[in-house]
Amino acid sequence: MMITVEKTKTPKSKPASDQLVFGKSFSDHMFICDYSEEKGWHNSRIVPYQDIAISPANMTLHYGQSIFEGLKAYKTADNKVNLFRPIENIRRLNSSCLRLCMPPINEEFALKALKTLVDIDRDWVPKEEGTSLYIRPFVFASEPHLGVRPSSTYTFIIITGPVGAYYKEGINPVKIFVESNYVRAVVGGLGEAKAAANYAASLKAQVEAKEKGYTQVLWLDGIEKKYIEEVGTMNVFFIIGNEVVTPKLSGSILPGITRKSSIELLKSWGYEVNERRITIDEVYAAHDKGMLKEVFGTGTAAVISPVGELSWNDKVITVGSGKTGPVSQRLYDTITGIQYSKMQDTFGWIEHV
Ligand SMILES: *Cc1c(COP(=O)(O)O)cnc(C)c1O
Repeated sequence: MMITVEKTKTPKSKPASDQLVFGKSFSDHMFICDYSEEKGWHNSRIVPYQDIAISPANMTLHYGQSIFEGLKAYKTADNKVNLFRPIENIRRLNSSCLRLCMPPINEEFALKALKTLVDIDRDWVPKEEGTSLYIRPFVFASEPHLGVRPSSTYTFIIITGPVGAYYKEGINPVKIFVESNYVRAVVGGLGEAKAAANYAASLKAQVEAKEKGYTQVLWLDGIEKKYIEEVGTMNVFFIIGNEVVTPKLSGSILPGITRKSSIELLKSWGYEVNERRITIDEVYAAHDKGMLKEVFGTGTAAVISPVGELSWNDKVITVGSGKTGPVSQRLYDTITGIQYSKMQDTFGWIEHV
């Protein structure tokens, strides 16, 4: 499929690197493509970043058929632009589409669209330490219709925007509230899809945790409220004695690419890594025995987010020393080192644009 390109005649001024706020500024161009049952995916184009018009009867507004992805482009010291495992994002985009009865997009074509867009806006990839260009591909229903059924038309858009360093003063542990009232997802639901609806379901818990002074919530399973699932919008890891544990992908957990990369790195370093069920009781018991060494979240935004404190049913525990642990730090340094080409990419994770 051909991608037509219409360049902007009025390039925007770029925000200063120290003023970057996540998700506030957008680069000059966007990619957009339409789907209909007759034509399949068609009319692929890169156009100036602009508003889109939608009908008040647009099915996404009413029934929520909407999924997205998130990845970043990184500028290296010699001004190359790196993507980190982008094909994994495209495969996950497609599995999310299928779960919501939306049509998948040819993998090679989606990768080409993404790379072409980033190339056109490569001057928008900021250079300063820790900054990047955030890339947001998303697919949503576009048919105006109020009957409940899958839409017959869809739109696939990719927008990008420069983002600042997640950690301005080095990586820092966060305080986490173990959520035993609200749940994010249940097996059989949308939990393993990157669906907008999962975020809608999570907001209330997030707001209440913030009010109590916590950064994020630790999600437990939706049935027994016992097994650990994720932390906020990240996957979660525990180091208990010499074992690294992360919840097994059960159907209600989002299969993170940072999670997968962390598992692969930890195994290559000789750690015993187990993807298995783990209860919140086991974590508290390990803490009481002095065995809970590290807890951290993994995700594209923060890469690694160490957890310093957990609060569950009014019982507050400090993880390890409450500081960033050595394994969390090593994973962070290695993944970011590979992303910015400061370390050798022995796994072949980087694609240049
Ligand atoms: C996106 C996401 C993650 C992290 O996935 P990465 O591919 O590592 O960025 C984890 N949990 C949820 C719920 C997510 O939406």
